[in-house]
Amino acid sequence: MSTLLDELTRIVGAAHVLTGTDIPPQHCTDWFQTHTHSPLALVRPGTPDEVARVMAACHRHNQPVTPQGGLTGLVAGAVPAEGDVALSLARLSGIEELDTSAGTITVLAGTPLQTVQEAARAAGLLLAVDLGARGSCQIGGNIATNAGGNRVIRYGMFRDQVLGLEAVLADGTPVGGLNKMLKNNAGYDLKHLFIGSEGTLGIVTRAVLRLHPMPLSCCTAWCTLPDHDTVIRFLRHAQSRLAGTLSAFEVMWPDFHELVTTRVPDMRSPVASQGLQVLMEIEGSDAERDMAMFSTLLEEALERGWLHDAAIAQSLKEREAFWRLRDAVSEFPLMWSPYCGYDVSLPIGDIGRFVQELQHLLRERFPHCEHVHFGHIGDSNLHVGVHLDKQWGPFPEAEIDECVYGLLRNYGGSVSAEHGIGQHKKAFLGHSRTPQELALMRTLKQALDPKNLLNRGKVLA
Ligand code: FAD
Repeated sequence: MSTLLDELTRIVGAAHVLTGTDIPPQHCTDWFQTHTHSPLALVRPGTPDEVARVMAACHRHNQPVTPQGGLTGLVAGAVPAEGDVALSLARLSGIEELDTSAGTITVLAGTPLQTVQEAARAAGLLLAVDLGARGSCQIGGNIATNAGGNRVIRYGMFRDQVLGLEAVLADGTPVGGLNKMLKNNAGYDLKHLFIGSEGTLGIVTRAVLRLHPMPLSCCTAWCTLPDHDTVIRFLRHAQSRLAGTLSAFEVMWPDFHELVTTRVPDMRSPVASQGLQVLMEIEGSDAERDMAMFSTLLEEALERGWLHDAAIAQSLKEREAFWRLRDAVSEFPLMWSPYCGYDVSLPIGDIGRFVQELQHLLRERFPHCEHVHFGHIGDSNLHVGVHLDKQWGPFPEAEIDECVYGLLRNYGGSVSAEHGIGQHKKAFLGHSRTPQELALMRTLKQALDPKNLLNRGKVLA
């Protein structure tokens, strides 16, 4: 084995092949520290060419490799199996080109999302995907997980931001190209093999991302509605009236709202009414005109009885306070341990009935449990959180999984809306994919990585 480590050292330099206790602990575990394994070595290439040579060497030695980005993934996809080489993309960082005429930015895969957002903003442009982990997660990780976030309803997922990419295959072969065109139907669009494949089919090294005009105005409101059917009616009405400017539509069920406003310090609801809470936002180009359009929409909805209550943010401070309430979700795993969270999607019209049924099932099976339901409902994405205090015995995570995913299967939903499968959801992939789809996934894996060296044990069981 020392021959492989010698070879890797010759490629990237001794300072970038770490072993034993020199490996920082975060490279051995995941965000929630549910899995911890010791890699053979942590290798940190500094260029796409070094990635290709590292992969070729590992392939010759039949050495499994786990790609690692910013390590913010929530399904343990970047946790190395025992004895893997952990391949960190962190040194592969930098913006190579910002092309204002094409509206594109070309970046190395290890560049943090926030760095790319800031570079685009400085040029008056927008990289449209945004998520809470922006400061740590990397573009390569965002591509590998097809990340979503808050603005999907308007701009789509990460897949929709990628125009071109370069990747390295398991045997070290570099593939792909830096396409900048929105239209390019020249044969199979191979970049989609790597987007959302969680590092199992290739290592992303470079990407061309699409940029949008930077919005010049923003209006935000917090509303209360009586039930899910009304939420959908209001959403569809808003989409038809707001001329394509709707950029966020976040829904929180009463269980979420009560927990956040009663237990998270310094959280106050902008409205007094009970019901489903909606945080909605539009982004446009004319502050006065957009606010008039937004206010009219809310007034009409109040008159029609769709809204019980509505508050429009009157300042940036108020807007931030609205979002802080929604983003208080990041407190749950800390204040509510043990806790399990779910990131599912299902046809938007079914979400209300699904939540009702799930709440009933959870109360019946685990009478002392507490739960929260919230999500990017405009994108069919529901998040569920469940907590059961330690006094009620060992946390029944497997039973809760069965309860949530079992019900979801009946609705034809997806066990992963945006976080991916990684290790956490492998056992449930068959709930959302047919045997034929799973067989085709295996065929692709076999074709691109016949030795099963790349991120083994992730996504496919
Ligand atoms: P990592 O965690 O390092 O890796 C994730 C997966 O991608 C692994 O399978 C890894 O092997 C693979 N990978 C990493 N880099 C590469 C590469 N260059 N080539 C090939 N494979 C690679 N996700 C959302 O979708 N929406 C959200 O709103 C959201 N909010 C979040 C908020 C917080 C506070 C946190 C902690 C996480 C959130 N996430 C969200 C999850 C996470 O941030 C995303 O999945 C992110 O895209 C992961 O990027 P990363 O660089 O950290 O990847």
